[in-house]
Amino acid sequence: MVALVTGASRGIGRACAIKLAEHGYDVAVNYNSNDAKAAEVVSEIEKLGQKAAAFKANTADLKAVQDMFREIQKTFGQLDVLVNNAGVVDDAYLLMINEDSLSRSLDINIKGYFHCAQAAALKMMSKKHGKIINVSSVSSILAVEGQGVYSATKGAVNSMTATLAKELAPRGITVNAVAPGFIETEMMDAIPEEKKSEYIKAIPMGHFGNAEDVANVVATLASPAFDYVTGQVIVLDGGLSL
Ligand code: NAP
Repeated sequence: MVALVTGASRGIGRACAIKLAEHGYDVAVNYNSNDAKAAEVVSEIEKLGQKAAAFKANTADLKAVQDMFREIQKTFGQLDVLVNNAGVVDDAYLLMINEDSLSRSLDINIKGYFHCAQAAALKMMSKKHGKIINVSSVSSILAVEGQGVYSATKGAVNSMTATLAKELAPRGITVNAVAPGFIETEMMDAIPEEKKSEYIKAIPMGHFGNAEDVANVVATLASPAFDYVTGQVIVLDGGLSL
């Protein structure tokens, strides 16, 4: 079994790649810029006895994604699971949103997911089996000031999850999403400490999640136990959205 995890050099993607390897997957490790970190993830996976290779490609760039899928086919010969995870956040209140940041967020968080889903579905259709797991965010269902753009992109991820699930079900492909709350990764580094304390108070469980929490849910969705589940968005946020 082979999985591709986008944005797997760090954070949630890294944890998903390693977790899937623990569950017996060979893993294609996609990343954008950080060669050393991607190489570390490959080596961690190889230590677990699974095959791994790193693929540097900006998921917002359709040609780069198509080239990556060709290379994955040459290296692994198949694809069973896609974890669409590569994403960016650039918080700004409405009047401060600038055009470059807006385009970058839409390109990576929405177009990137479509590029990879399209290429993956093409491979999976021929086997009539596959799983696409989109990493959304609790911000898709919860209004967080300053996250207008980010939440709009994640809302789009939820919508695409439902639509693609319906389209691809007859082809044997399931499409689900996970919507994490605050997860301690480099993505949270930009949040000031006083804001973090405020957010923790709003989480019924009283603490942030970690990347492993998300990886556990992703690996569960990838497992045969969830073969009849499609089009769902699984929220894991310590109760934040309740
Ligand atoms: P992170 O620590 O900032 O890591 C981002 C990863 O994505 C890195 O591996 C980065 O590669 C890669 N990446 C960024 N842009 C890319 C592109 N254009 N093409 C390919 N790879 C790209 O982020 P994270 O916290 O793990 O977040 C991962 C996903 O979870 C995102 O979709 C995010 O929206 C979602 N999420 C995060 C949280 C949270 O609290 N952390 C909560 C909810 C949802 P390089 O290392 O090469 O730059």
